[in-house]
Amino acid sequence: MWDLIIKNGRILTMDSSKELNKSLLIKDGLIADIVENSIAEKLDACRVVDAEGLVVMPGIVDCHTHLCEYATQGVHQTVGKSQKMAAVSNFLDCLKSGITTLGEHILGHPVLSTTIEELKETASQTALTVKFATGTCCVGTEPLSYTSAIRPGSSLTQDDFDDAHYAGLAAASDFPGENIFITATVANLPVHLVPNGGKRIFDSDDINKIVKIFHSLGKKIGAHIEGAENIKMFLDANGDVIHHGHGAEPQQYHEIAGKNVPLVATPHGGTSSPPNSPEEIYQALKAGVTVAISSDSYLPVHPEAVGMEGIELVGPKDLFKVCKPTFEYLHERGVSKVDCLKMITTNAAKVMDLDAEIGVISRLKKADIILCKGIPVFDFTDTDSVVMVIKDGVVEIDKN
Ligand SMILES: [Zn+2]
Repeated sequence: MWDLIIKNGRILTMDSSKELNKSLLIKDGLIADIVENSIAEKLDACRVVDAEGLVVMPGIVDCHTHLCEYATQGVHQTVGKSQKMAAVSNFLDCLKSGITTLGEHILGHPVLSTTIEELKETASQTALTVKFATGTCCVGTEPLSYTSAIRPGSSLTQDDFDDAHYAGLAAASDFPGENIFITATVANLPVHLVPNGGKRIFDSDDINKIVKIFHSLGKKIGAHIEGAENIKMFLDANGDVIHHGHGAEPQQYHEIAGKNVPLVATPHGGTSSPPNSPEEIYQALKAGVTVAISSDSYLPVHPEAVGMEGIELVGPKDLFKVCKPTFEYLHERGVSKVDCLKMITTNAAKVMDLDAEIGVISRLKKADIILCKGIPVFDFTDTDSVVMVIKDGVVEIDKN
């Protein structure tokens, strides 16, 4: 007896560009087998879903979000204990949008004081897989303002960040996210409030030291970076993942690929520089860089973002819209639809070191699966077209 059978679907496995018209047999939260539809017809299951006409693909992975801190205050205006309720509300928006795994960032906040342990506990009670990256944040106000994941509810200065502090951050971090801001962020603030947005706040000695602290504790490190020179400093220090990477020079993508450093692109904004254009993402892919695209939610759209007319603030529901200009540009130049979709599945899973478990549909991977009325981004960008979301083999969202 199988727990769940999904039959007759148009399966996008992500490890082949061809659609597979077969059935998925699910047991104990895993994809146990992929069989011919005629064989599945004869099998018993607790639940059978007929996916005739629907695209069946891995759950979406958004590897860079801020849904537990800034988006709880910014979107839900919560400041006290209800921060956790707001986080859960944001998580539910993710699940309803087809996102089954999140790379969430905890950077500290001057007002919100819920600890990272409490936020991890809150996330663990939801159906989503949520991994947490812990970081320090520097906002480009005048003077600069600093926060840290391990000192929530405090405004800090750079003097608060000694080696022990970085060791504490590394110990608490689940994956290489924005663990440090090499350049001050504009955050979600209007330009006139962040005159120091994009300003470099670490020199190469600092970056080398912090990377070594993370590596000595067996942790990879990622960074929020804009500007070619800053990207070079992080690569030279053997940093592991570049977030944003706005303003990279075309030839740098070869060096990024050579060092096997993934790029988490945010084509809608996130730094003071113009964001990753479709052409730049194409150059990165051609150079062999593992590129993921993330929503960085919630994030306002940069005025120079390509093809984002009509979107103001990007949340989990808008990830497909953020991908559309890039995916269409790439597909016109011969990149397959599946290779485009890898940026929000397989490659995003790689950034979080979860690619052994999720991101493709194959035997013994987690049964994190979405059923859609067409191919996401190419055929639709509204999340109502994600009609079913299955997490760990359980139907969690059913819009039928
Ligand atoms: Zn971010």
